[in-house]
Amino acid sequence: MNDLNFRENMEHFAVATALKYFTEDPDKGLPKLLDWADKFDRENVAIGQRRAFRKVLDDPEGNWYRLIKSLWTDIDPEVRATFFENFIVNTALIGLNRQNRAKEKYGCNIPWAILMDPTSACNLHCTGCWAAEYGNKLNMSYETLDSIIRQGKELGTYMFIYSGGEPLVRKADIIRLCKAHPDCQFLAFTNGTLIDEKFAEEMLRVRNFIPAISIEGDQQATDARRGDGTYQAVIRAMKLLQEKKLPFGASCCYTSKNVESISSEEFIDSLIAHGAKFAWFFHYMPVGIDAPVELLPSPEQRETMYHKIRQYRATKPIFTIDFQNDGEYVGGCIAGGHCYLHINANGDIEPCAFIHYSDSSIYEKTLLEAYQSPLFMAYKEGQPFHENLLRPCPMLENPECLRAMADHSGAHSTDLQSPESAEHLCEKCIPYAENWAPTAEKLWGCSHGCKGSSEAE
Ligand code: SF4
Repeated sequence: MNDLNFRENMEHFAVATALKYFTEDPDKGLPKLLDWADKFDRENVAIGQRRAFRKVLDDPEGNWYRLIKSLWTDIDPEVRATFFENFIVNTALIGLNRQNRAKEKYGCNIPWAILMDPTSACNLHCTGCWAAEYGNKLNMSYETLDSIIRQGKELGTYMFIYSGGEPLVRKADIIRLCKAHPDCQFLAFTNGTLIDEKFAEEMLRVRNFIPAISIEGDQQATDARRGDGTYQAVIRAMKLLQEKKLPFGASCCYTSKNVESISSEEFIDSLIAHGAKFAWFFHYMPVGIDAPVELLPSPEQRETMYHKIRQYRATKPIFTIDFQNDGEYVGGCIAGGHCYLHINANGDIEPCAFIHYSDSSIYEKTLLEAYQSPLFMAYKEGQPFHENLLRPCPMLENPECLRAMADHSGAHSTDLQSPESAEHLCEKCIPYAENWAPTAEKLWGCSHGCKGSSEAE
């Protein structure tokens, strides 16, 4: 037995020991789990997370403690244990170690998660959806998806996220992949309308699949963007998952039209009441030649999101994150393999779900070759794209960066319906970037020293 095999066997033994803490009362089991993590994480790759977790355990009335305890009351015990093993141990401890070794060895970014589209087909037609830009007819085969997962694991990636199209159009293959890779955590951005009793039973059987259901605020806001009846279908799906004790979250895109509803306390409280454990917020991106730029939030609207999401994160028992405003927690832009990348249903390997340019195809290159491609290396060199991490994006807030990277790498547009040049896309973002900059500077200054409105956050 070589050293690596020996170490991995010891790791599995240690994880089996830790899993029994998950059957105990959380008040007793969680402190033991932390002591276990101290010993297990010898290289201290997750020391910051453990410190934060200890603070959470010291405050039993706090929202984070209530969220963690709800995993004991609301989630099936076997699903909870699988989540611990796959998400905490495999993606965070074992995976991060392996990613760090690969980063050093190959001199490129190695992602924590891979986002991939099994299909471009979708049963809805939402306004301003970037997925619609790819066309409606593409699919990656089971074998291709399986190969991506195998290659990812070799380099330390254990988190695989599906987007689309509507990924649950490919339910059968998604469940098959969950079964084939029981050590990975799978998540899907889904419109939720295809979640039914049979699929929920399958989720219970495989235990390693979590949906992030798209919802845009209240019924009026959701149906306005996604079509009549969508909100009720989403609520039906959430109720079913809650009854089955399955974990799920919400995926929320804010635009100029729905900020009021999506940032409201009523909305967050309704997600919690329906059983959502996380709510991820995405800023609308004007991707695609016909993308309506008027959906871009104003600086005032984005500032509202900044304050509200921070307020909810400090008070509500749900894990909220706003990817455009929370760059400071992840070092700015997470794309280009820094934390993640995107593979569309045509097999094009893109730096980000919103950046539809590529110089690599999964049918022509290995994942590692794509990570070392000119476009991904340009991301690595450029990150962070701005020292103010409220201006993280090489497209939205720093459009000159995307233009330069596309030129330098020779990346082509991967929008198959109506290709858009990086020049055209970046031109659209310049007014937005200029308008947002003063607010970004004010908020960044306040949260990094001055006594301003962010002091309490
Ligand atoms: S490229 Fe822009 S949208 Fe994509 S992860 Fe980076 S900052 Fe976010």
